[in-house]
Amino acid sequence: MKLRVGITGGIGSGKSTVCRLFAERGVPVYDCDAAARRLMTEDAALREAIRARFGAESYLQDGAPNRPYLAARVFGDAAERAALEALVHPAVAADFERWADRQEAPYVLLESAILYEAGLQERLDRVVAVLAPAALRLERAVRRDGADAEAIRRRMAAQADDDTLAARADYSIVNIREEELAADVAQLDQRFRHEAARV
Ligand code: ATP
Repeated sequence: MKLRVGITGGIGSGKSTVCRLFAERGVPVYDCDAAARRLMTEDAALREAIRARFGAESYLQDGAPNRPYLAARVFGDAAERAALEALVHPAVAADFERWADRQEAPYVLLESAILYEAGLQERLDRVVAVLAPAALRLERAVRRDGADAEAIRRRMAAQADDDTLAARADYSIVNIREEELAADVAQLDQRFRHEAARV
């Protein structure tokens, strides 16, 4: 059986950077954000379910999701957001399963900022949390997105904090110095290859 490993962490923690290092070592990586965007366009059953729940305006004439409309529908409305997520998350989880089965590698990675919120841990054998001090995460996110610090702070406040993630995950990577990251990834990669050979 193929080992399934999840990578999670807060905004600016370095999940994508860590996943890139695993990918460079030949590990296939599934990006849940990208998959959700793609499936909202390509998955006929998901499209139908979204139209049924949120109305015909959910899709544009050319078939692309009407993202501003959907964003406005769920903005500040927890119940509406939960309703949309209840449609999208299972579609992503099912797509991940199909994708994972197609991979030849001994183990695969799934990247998600909301891994636990989406219940994805149930489909994973191991979870790695990527951690970094909040001030550093804020600085990285502002630098990368050119976004307003207050908006990033609000997103950070809505996410699980590092202590919670570290307690739930099987492994943690502290991502402060990029030079040390590759060695941490190499060590975990070896461990997962070893474990994959035994399951
Ligand atoms: P998000 O959830 O916001 O997508 P993420 O956890 O995937 O974030 P990355 O995109 O990997 O985080 O990293 C955020 C930014 O910080 C990127 O511009 C990345 O290049 C930079 N970065 C990540 N780790 C380090 C590091 N150790 N040293 C310097 N810069 C870093």
